[in-house]
Amino acid sequence: METSTYQLRCRECGKTWGNQPRSYCEDCFSPLEVTYDYDSLRSSVSHELFASRAPNIWRYRELLPLPAGYQPSLPVGYTPLVCAPRLGDQIGSRRLFVKNDAVCLPTLSFKDRVVTVALANARSFGFHTVACSSTGNLANAVAAQAAREGFKAWIFIPSDLEPAKILGTQVFGAELVRINGSYDHVNRLCSQIAEEREWGFVNVNLRPYYAEGSKTVGYEIAEQLGWKLPDNVVVPMAGGSLITKIKKAFDELILLGLVDPKPVKFFGAQATGCSPISTAIKQYCDEIEPQRPKTIARSLAIGNPADGHYALQAIGKSGGWAEDVSDHEVVESIQLLAENEGIFTETAGGVTVGTARKLIHQDRILPDETTVLCITGNGLKTTDVLADRYQVEAPISPKLAEFEAYLAAKAANLPAAFAAAADSSNAAVA
Ligand SMILES: *Cc1c(COP(=O)(O)O)cnc(C)c1O
Ligand SMILES: [Zn+2]
Repeated sequence: METSTYQLRCRECGKTWGNQPRSYCEDCFSPLEVTYDYDSLRSSVSHELFASRAPNIWRYRELLPLPAGYQPSLPVGYTPLVCAPRLGDQIGSRRLFVKNDAVCLPTLSFKDRVVTVALANARSFGFHTVACSSTGNLANAVAAQAAREGFKAWIFIPSDLEPAKILGTQVFGAELVRINGSYDHVNRLCSQIAEEREWGFVNVNLRPYYAEGSKTVGYEIAEQLGWKLPDNVVVPMAGGSLITKIKKAFDELILLGLVDPKPVKFFGAQATGCSPISTAIKQYCDEIEPQRPKTIARSLAIGNPADGHYALQAIGKSGGWAEDVSDHEVVESIQLLAENEGIFTETAGGVTVGTARKLIHQDRILPDETTVLCITGNGLKTTDVLADRYQVEAPISPKLAEFEAYLAAKAANLPAAFAAAADSSNAAVA
């Protein structure tokens, strides 16, 4: 791998570690990240090169840690960036965009981006089994992609995940281990297993490679805005990796001359029931106090975020901010996005929309600035949180008269069952 244009480097002491399945520096125990030879990249990438390729994350392949000769087998990413004028009207923004990873393929969350890059490296490191600790979406993405790529998969989750996320892991034939404990317990166990077994844990020993996949959200936002950066991005935070990697993507694009330099404010979103990062921001504190999660936003329920420290830095240095919203606001915000833009997001997306609304009310995000909301997962995976919001009315017969009665009852604000009864009494009279 000597010839590769990327390698691992310690984020604190700067020591380089080549390419290997390792996530922390042996010298100072700080996290490792992938670094590139940006001088040689400057002459080899361009807007035209990216645009000449298919619309998926592999169009940015030079900016990802991919082993020589790697042949991708899945068209992951390049999800829509849509303007959201109706939602904008509701929450007070005139230039609002939604980056819609609710429709990221193959498993309907942004985690497909990170897993596909991790598995490319798992293969080149010689792993036959891949694994992860997950709050749900990562489980789905690892299970599905392992099936397609011919890896055996071991998935470790907290026992209380949503049924759709559990089923959406099992269906791919993965081994699923439910743990009595929070995500933080699950993750600690996985670190121990990774020391014992020759398994590629996408978010443990392969974490630096995995994390690079998140940069593609940033590249796509810039390209979809016509190779311009937005004023603000609002990003949901669990471990805090995605927000730091969108920032890395924007910084790289500036460094490579692919966008004009511009300050972008980064805004982090959490659920109040698991808000270690937003709490630190709001208290102007540079240490993160771990929390015990208690929220319906299970995909974000990481009480001791691995990249929390770097998320604080990214937000703070950008002039951004972080906020958190209650479970009630999460559900309302899911409905607000669905009713105004036709996008059905999971609880994490409710967190993002609710937080954005709060930040606009606080005048931290201004109405005429270009603001991108990162919607990271699909609502069909967390339908349980909406169960008590909607009733299904009694069915009516396929008769026009019954429909007319139904409409009349509706106008009079009567339940549909009454309409059916009224109709049959009318029929009897006739
Ligand atoms: C994992 C996840 C996130 C946040 O990811 P981090 O990089 O750990 O902060 C956001 N949204 C959804 C839906 C996720 O599954
Ligand atoms: Zn170090």
